[in-house]
Amino acid sequence: MKIKFLGTGAADWPNPGKSVGAGRRFSSLVLDDRILIDCGPMTLDAIDEFNVDVHALDAILIGHPHGDHFNLDVICQIARRRDASAKPIVLYIDEEAAKNRCTVPEDLADRLQVKGFLPLNCLQVGDYAVHAYPASHPIGIPGELACHFIIKTPTNETMLYGLDGSWFPPTTWHAIQKAKLDIIVWELTCGNLDDWRLGEHSNFGMLKIMANAFKNDGAIQKHTKMFCSHLARTLCPSHDIYARELDTFGFTLAKDGMEWTS
Ligand SMILES: [Zn+2]
Ligand SMILES: [Zn+2]
Repeated sequence: MKIKFLGTGAADWPNPGKSVGAGRRFSSLVLDDRILIDCGPMTLDAIDEFNVDVHALDAILIGHPHGDHFNLDVICQIARRRDASAKPIVLYIDEEAAKNRCTVPEDLADRLQVKGFLPLNCLQVGDYAVHAYPASHPIGIPGELACHFIIKTPTNETMLYGLDGSWFPPTTWHAIQKAKLDIIVWELTCGNLDDWRLGEHSNFGMLKIMANAFKNDGAIQKHTKMFCSHLARTLCPSHDIYARELDTFGFTLAKDGMEWTS
């Protein structure tokens, strides 16, 4: 399994334009060059800066349709960059958002397909099995829901994508408990702060508790690689200082452009 972080920030980062420098773009990553997970307004610049081949992409998975994770215009631009003869790219997104906010422009009718899903659905994305589980993260638009993903790859590796959310709801918790995770992308919006946003986001104290519980169940093992992403600019320490702190607890602080291969 290979992942490349295209963005690792929460929604309070300014748009850095073409070069991210020491900043962070909104959270997004590419799995095995084939599946783009989350695609916000800054993702196209990240695709250019970090040399993502848009023709290698089969699908775009949106964990939840907040503006930092979902931007239809950018998704259309990605589809438009692909050869007209390429297989259509498939956008997987919350069912209600798919109905109400995902009208495909006429010129992309053959290049972009939209498929809605609900929590507890299992999506077959090529040869990847993507299980969607509910997240504690209100969208604020009636009927729209947020999900975490447990993804099984063709090489039989398992990834938990935990953006965005607070404590896992019981169904999600129990599914994670039973999984054997090779990689986790945790959400760490609030850093070390006991902030009011913890009703819908996480801090590092929560991640340590959840990781310990999942270690006790065997879902997290010695080899499990744990990344933290979705850091808020106004709530988290600077990268280098925080990366050292997280490392002592076995967590890797993700950075834009960071690549990892199992
Ligand atoms: Zn977010
Ligand atoms: Zn969100």
